[in-house]
Amino acid sequence: MTTLPIADFATVQRYARTMVRRHRGALVVMLSLYAIAAVVALIPAYLIGAFTNDIVAGTLTSAGVLQRCEVLAITSLLYGVFSFFARQRSYLLGEQIFAELREEFLAAVLALPLSVVEQAGTGDLLSRTTSDVEAMSRTVRFAVPEWLVAIIQTVLTAGAMLLVSPLASVACLFSLPPLFFATRHYLRYATPGYRRERMSYASLAGTVSETTEGARTVDALQLGERQNRRLEANFREAFYAEMYTLLMRMVWFPITESAFALAVAATLGWSGWLALHHVISVGAATTVTLYVVQINDPLDRIVQWLDELQLGQSSLARLVGVATVRDPRPLTGPTPVGEAISVDHVSYEYREGYPVLRDVSLAIRPGERLAIVGPSGAGKSTLGRLLAGIDAPTNGAVRIGGVSLGDLPLVALRQHVALVTQEHHVFLGTVRDNVGLAKPTASDEEICAALEAVDALDWVALLPHGLDTEVGSIGHAVSPAQAQQLALARLVLANPHTLILDEATALLDPRAARHLEKSLNAVVTGRTVIAIAHRLHTAHDADRVCVMRDGRIAELGTHDELVAQNGEYAALWHSWRNEAD
Ligand code: ADP
Repeated sequence: MTTLPIADFATVQRYARTMVRRHRGALVVMLSLYAIAAVVALIPAYLIGAFTNDIVAGTLTSAGVLQRCEVLAITSLLYGVFSFFARQRSYLLGEQIFAELREEFLAAVLALPLSVVEQAGTGDLLSRTTSDVEAMSRTVRFAVPEWLVAIIQTVLTAGAMLLVSPLASVACLFSLPPLFFATRHYLRYATPGYRRERMSYASLAGTVSETTEGARTVDALQLGERQNRRLEANFREAFYAEMYTLLMRMVWFPITESAFALAVAATLGWSGWLALHHVISVGAATTVTLYVVQINDPLDRIVQWLDELQLGQSSLARLVGVATVRDPRPLTGPTPVGEAISVDHVSYEYREGYPVLRDVSLAIRPGERLAIVGPSGAGKSTLGRLLAGIDAPTNGAVRIGGVSLGDLPLVALRQHVALVTQEHHVFLGTVRDNVGLAKPTASDEEICAALEAVDALDWVALLPHGLDTEVGSIGHAVSPAQAQQLALARLVLANPHTLILDEATALLDPRAARHLEKSLNAVVTGRTVIAIAHRLHTAHDADRVCVMRDGRIAELGTHDELVAQNGEYAALWHSWRNEAD
């Protein structure tokens, strides 16, 4: 299975830069507010230094104390006000950027070619839409702003220290080498570690969703043990991946903590010595030491948030990666002349060396009703997918009006051909939303006409709110057969010239299915209908029948011709009739 791509570092950086550029103004305002708050936060340590100098010099007066206390009270208040507005700005900006990111991701997911999603499996996409989006939300809302703020505070505090006494400040440099090397080491090894962790979650999500979705199959074929083993393997991988990153953190965190403690001790010792020898004042020594204590907090946050930023970066790479999938379809293309479909010497392989269609040639006239029948595994659905342009043939060509389906832009293609399969999905929303998806501008009359064409108007009218009834996973439960009707109504509304129905009425009872097919045919007169069917009355009602076997067309002709031929179709027809009787 090929997973969806992960964007490389340069692409992620480019994306982040675009985001920053787009919000430059808001970012500058937010960072300025934080910078003002950080400058205000530097005042108390300075005042304490001045106090100390007064005490040492014996010049402390009660008026002086009072005045400094007033300044302290005002700075506390100002700090609170600026932090409040800065935080407010940063949360608003975080939400804004996160919303854009999510919208862009959604657009990228929706633009994915169907075959890419099928190849990658749902687990990968599921984990990107859940855990990666979740991780990104933490990064954008908290990690990035906190990190930027911490950098501002660190730089400003370091600047203040240098202003007070460059000589006393150098002591804190002691902590830089261990901090630098430990962090560099951590970043080098932790990035792939976090990436592995994310991938392990994706596999786990894939196995879990596959097992629950296919629970009945798993049960029927007694695949429980096998799925259990897979889950265990996924858990083991996730466990080791987490253990690895945990170990990295376990080594890295204590080193950074000790480095901070070392910086305070060294500054206290060194500036104390300088003060004792009257190189600097006691107040300056006090202020510088207090600044070193103070700088530990933002420095610690810079280092701590790196962890989250790493996670965010690997999540962003996975989210942006989805947008790097290019739909090979062109955006403009030649216009088909007419609606005739031709399949020329087409072969198709899902896996190299295993052809499921071999040298299939077929010409379908506009307005024809063609039924495709044959044993299971003969390649009928695969032919349906090629006719709908979902997959491109390995060899040969499928053309509509003389234009190869691969050369048609997706929107144009869907105006010509659309496929409805057995898989039915009811989207969350009203019945109107569900059917109207195919044509957002459709009026209620058009939607009702489409529902009527698939025999669904009667039961829709009986729903508590008619067209406005909420359906889908948390709405009114519709039966699988009704869901299939909704899918067909959507197709009628989309009104492509060629409709491909792959067992699209299989979940209806035979009588209802036949009635539906008849009313559908009445509506789509002049349209081409290709129906893959296991109920042979569909073949009986069609203009021509194509019998497939082992990836080839075994017989092709009208129902009567094929029955008279007394070949494979005749045998199928007779046995089906006997069963039906
Ligand atoms: P039918 O519709 O006649 O039952 P299909 O077109 O579904 O036949 O399948 C034809 C062959 O292709 C089968 O052997 C099936 O196992 C194989 N096949 C179908 N879909 C896939 C797929 N996604 N990947 C690999 N093989 C597939």
